[in-house]
Amino acid sequence: MISKILVPTDGSKAAQKAALYAVDLAKQLNATVIALSIIDKRSLTGETVPAGNTSRHLIEPIEDYLREAAEGYTAEIKKLCNKNGVQSKTVITAGHPVEAIVKEALRAKVNLIIMGSHGKSALAAAVLGSVTYGVIHKDTKIPVLIVRR
Ligand code: ATP
Ligand code: MN
Repeated sequence: MISKILVPTDGSKAAQKAALYAVDLAKQLNATVIALSIIDKRSLTGETVPAGNTSRHLIEPIEDYLREAAEGYTAEIKKLCNKNGVQSKTVITAGHPVEAIVKEALRAKVNLIIMGSHGKSALAAAVLGSVTYGVIHKDTKIPVLIVRR
């Protein structure tokens, strides 16, 4: 029985397409949608600037900006749910997208994850985005449905 569907979004075209698919399916199944957006910590520390050298006053405005963006992406899905009479919830967390998606999927005990094959990255030729690749290779036993671009 599919009663809870997790929809991770980075606001990309593919993620929006996945959300449309998810809401349509949720409507048919009378399931709840959880729209999730992760503030990607990799874009704040570590990979470009050494973590120890990144001052809070530099990170905070960027984190605020990313949070606002994430709220916008999830609000859009919530709106789509409301329009279709589908129950929904929005969740924003910060961290590594793969870890955070899997963590929320287990925490909320979802029955299905629906996400895009690609995201916002310019690597258009890649077979699969690294976040999607990471999620499907985690051993959680939660089915993942990938919506193509
Ligand atoms: P890459 O990031 O590996 O360079 P990409 O951006 O094209 O490539 P992914 O980031 O793997 O591809 O995006 C695939 C899907 O993963 C998106 O459609 C979305 O469903 C999900 N996703 C990606 N980033 C996030 C995020 N920060 N929060 C929530 N979901 C995300
Ligand atoms: Mn990406």
